[in-house]
Amino acid sequence: MIVVVMGVPGSGKTTVIRGAQRYAEFTYVNYGDIFLRIARERFGIENRDEIRERLTWREYRELHEPAADELRRMAERGTVVVDTHALVALPTGFMPGFPLFVLQRLPVCAWVLVEADPAEIAGRRARDSGERERGKGLEANIALHQEMNRVAAVVYSVIAGGSVYIVKNREGKADEASRELAEVIKLCGGQ
Ligand code: ATP
Ligand code: MG
Repeated sequence: MIVVVMGVPGSGKTTVIRGAQRYAEFTYVNYGDIFLRIARERFGIENRDEIRERLTWREYRELHEPAADELRRMAERGTVVVDTHALVALPTGFMPGFPLFVLQRLPVCAWVLVEADPAEIAGRRARDSGERERGKGLEANIALHQEMNRVAAVVYSVIAGGSVYIVKNREGKADEASRELAEVIKLCGGQ
């Protein structure tokens, strides 16, 4: 079974999922990492932002197929938690993180949204100086992005099955969010 965890950049997905590993047993998968590896192999892409900047929509779609196959194979062996984005903010608008054919093939138990107060997310982005460029263009409108992510999660659940669960990742309370996520993961693992 798969639990997909989504949220805007800086909402705390990776932190909250990593923390949940203390309370539940699962395999952690970063969808972007699988994607980047396949993009490297096929198109010579070097980093995450290049995926958005250089790939055509057709090429981007082409990467989903092997990525989804990998996820499905992993999910046959146990609970998999996928760290990913519901909607990617592009200059042309919000792009779904999953195309239809992927949604129709993944055994998803729950679509979990990690949300936080927009001002807190902006603060987290400002504090982080990683390789990821966060908060450019449409991504800067955090409240709108979070609102649109909720819509996307419901659409995904209608197509793929599974429920939608919202975890609030309050400032300084990542462990509480991790515990809450772990409960959902444990319930999914029993299915
Ligand atoms: P991305 O989509 O870019 O991978 P993300 O959603 O995985 O982002 P994280 O990298 O987990 O976000 O968190 C962003 C920053 O916010 C990190 O520096 C992390 O330590 C911090 N952070 C996460 N959760 C909290 C919290 N509850 N309180 C304070 N800081 C937090
Ligand atoms: Mg992350």
